[in-house]
Amino acid sequence: MNFRRGLSAAQIAAVIIAVIIIGAGFGWYISTTPASGSTVTSTSISKLGVIVTILPQAEFVERVGRDRVEVTVMVPPGASPHTYEPTPSQLQEVSRAKMYAKVGSDVEFELAWIDKIIDFNKEMVVVDCSKGIDLINVEREHGGDPHIWLSPRNAEIMVNNIYEGLVQIDPANQEYYAKNTVKYLQDLDELDKEIVQALSGKENRKIMVYHPSWEYFCRDYGLEQIPIEKRGKEPTPQGIANLIEQANANNIKVIFASPEFSSENANVIAIEIGGEVVLISPLIKNYLKNMIKVAEAFAKV
Ligand SMILES: [Zn+2]
Repeated sequence: MNFRRGLSAAQIAAVIIAVIIIGAGFGWYISTTPASGSTVTSTSISKLGVIVTILPQAEFVERVGRDRVEVTVMVPPGASPHTYEPTPSQLQEVSRAKMYAKVGSDVEFELAWIDKIIDFNKEMVVVDCSKGIDLINVEREHGGDPHIWLSPRNAEIMVNNIYEGLVQIDPANQEYYAKNTVKYLQDLDELDKEIVQALSGKENRKIMVYHPSWEYFCRDYGLEQIPIEKRGKEPTPQGIANLIEQANANNIKVIFASPEFSSENANVIAIEIGGEVVLISPLIKNYLKNMIKVAEAFAKV
């Protein structure tokens, strides 16, 4: 399923030519008009409505679809995809969409709502962004760890799946999407290298986190997360005592919490270990910038 392996030399050449044409100052529609002679232009058709579950996916779709897509995010800023429920106006958006890019890793919002959402719009193409990603097993009623998007290496696979979905709903503009995908995959590769670099000098590989979002990140960059909350449940007093002991034993002075989740117990533990709570978010739209910020926050502790 790897996009770059799947691209033929001819397709790569076509992408390079398209870039040159754009460099000359022409509008996108010129280079993306298919050889078949159809008259698709970016000014003559409205944007393709694409629905996503979480904000980072909005960046993925916008970077692949650019000005051909109009993205609607189901779980708004500050809300949790483990608990959020859509509003009637969001379901109206769904009825106009051409594609739904689901995370696909059994995140609770999708478990609860995806069937109802599809009922609103049976014509919509549903893309599973998790296709081809190895899920990490966790103790959970459904599937594996849902936080797949928080490793840039998984994000590359998600972006490939989104590319394939956009080509399915809009094949006339395949070259346009291919060129955009290549560029964004390069940015993700660059991000991957920057994260490796940021963490290269880090001796203490254990981080304490409130919500267990970072398992894929930790797997791919050689860290280990110690979560306070497990399967949506707050720790017991005995659990808190164990976490304080683990923090002290591992010289942990920072607890990472997220603005999307209440973190009272993070404060309790931080006070006990004479440390502090640092906020990082797993759900920021500006993925590239947010992920390097997260890596730098982890690197500092
Ligand atoms: Zn989560």
